[in-house]
Amino acid sequence: MSLSDDLYRDIILEHHKNPHHYGTLEPADVSVEGVNPLCGDECHITLKLDDGRIADIKANPRGCAISRASTSMMTDAVIGKSLEEAHATVQKFKHMMLGPGTADELPEEMEDIEALEGVKVLPARIKCAVLSWDTLLEGMREVEQKKD
Ligand code: ZN
Repeated sequence: MSLSDDLYRDIILEHHKNPHHYGTLEPADVSVEGVNPLCGDECHITLKLDDGRIADIKANPRGCAISRASTSMMTDAVIGKSLEEAHATVQKFKHMMLGPGTADELPEEMEDIEALEGVKVLPARIKCAVLSWDTLLEGMREVEQKKD
């Protein structure tokens, strides 16, 4: 195991043990739940919006270390962003996990998320890593539909 593998494992375990923005916002503007039946991961995300921005986000992930860590990193990556920016951030992440993208293409503030790139070699776990990001997308889609 290389030094970076150890480092990445530590980053994932640290987010797993102490997830950022953990909990539930009440009241919330958006409340959405996602499930990954393959692994049993669940994720409940609540958002507060202010003028098209994610003013606050809390998530309540239950499941494996990869899904919990990924959820924690997702909240860090999108808090304070406009819905449009958050959307682009999710796409960058998914491009890395599901497409030909690499961690090198991620912006600097998504640095911790590089640790998840290693999950790509474990196809069964990719869904664990992507769950909360897809759940956020679903929540943002609901907001867009309400606007129309
Ligand atoms: Zn999982």
